[in-house]
Amino acid sequence: MTSPFVLGVDLDGVCADYTAAFRAAVARHREVDPSSLTDDVTWDFAEWGLDRTSFLEHHRRAVVEDHLFATMPPIDGVSDTLWRLSDAGVWIRIITHRLVSNWNHATAVADTVGWLDTNRVPYRDICFLGAKPQVGADLYVEDAPHNVEALRASAARVLVFDQPYNRSLGGLRARTWAEVEDVVVGSVVDSGRAYPSPLPLVGLAGAGDRLGGEPPAAGDALASSSPEEAREQS
Ligand SMILES: [Mg+2]
Repeated sequence: MTSPFVLGVDLDGVCADYTAAFRAAVARHREVDPSSLTDDVTWDFAEWGLDRTSFLEHHRRAVVEDHLFATMPPIDGVSDTLWRLSDAGVWIRIITHRLVSNWNHATAVADTVGWLDTNRVPYRDICFLGAKPQVGADLYVEDAPHNVEALRASAARVLVFDQPYNRSLGGLRARTWAEVEDVVVGSVVDSGRAYPSPLPLVGLAGAGDRLGGEPPAAGDALASSSPEEAREQS
């Protein structure tokens, strides 16, 4: 039995709309209307007049005062798509760089895992990373140009999640979670693993609530602690 296909999934700009939430936070801090801040931004938010120092201060206030990581809107389709992939056997590994600053890690971690539950994002493990890019995934979904480049430099396969600030990057790109799903399914098949057809939802008790209702209890579908353990169990 082969090991599961591991999908490394970034959070900000991929699962969660960081730009929208940060824009609202900066507007609150400045007491201006959010529409006065363009959403067509480069990576450093220079369009909003931010430099590295002022970015970090607004980011800190957004995380601590506004609980940005608990409240930011999910990107369309992320929950449904990741549930389908997880149900088909894809190992979802959340990879986030949210501990980049040396303050309030408790808030960042608690709000992050709370957000994942609230927005019904399935995952089997989660990595809070600093600079080290490579955590052993078969495919990464990532939006940050420097992370994409670092991963590709380590020979990792990376699918760029389209954002205004990463359009200079070439290679694999998805504009929506539907496009992510297509690439992942193709990659699973190309890797020589089987990709099961989805079960029809009609007629299955409770199936209609599968994506919108209560998430499965811990231990039901996501019981294994590592891809290797899953292989041993299967
Ligand atoms: Mg990101």
